[in-house]
Amino acid sequence: MKAMRRKLVWLERQNFQGWGCTECAWAFNPLGPAVGHSLEDMKTRYEIQRDTEFRSHVCAEHPRATKSPS
Ligand SMILES: [Zn+2]
Repeated sequence: MKAMRRKLVWLERQNFQGWGCTECAWAFNPLGPAVGHSLEDMKTRYEIQRDTEFRSHVCAEHPRATKSPS
């Protein structure tokens, strides 16, 4: 069985800047405005939401339109 080698990476494209997956077209879209008791709290919540969604996404469900050489 092959281990998942996907990684969470910061992407900068023409029409998108944000966190995405190295193995598919998945990208993290934060839900609504940031909430929290402090800046640190907001950051922590954002990271938890991001990491949770990254871990739970299925690469096969987010195929890339075009393959990029890497
Ligand atoms: Zn993926």
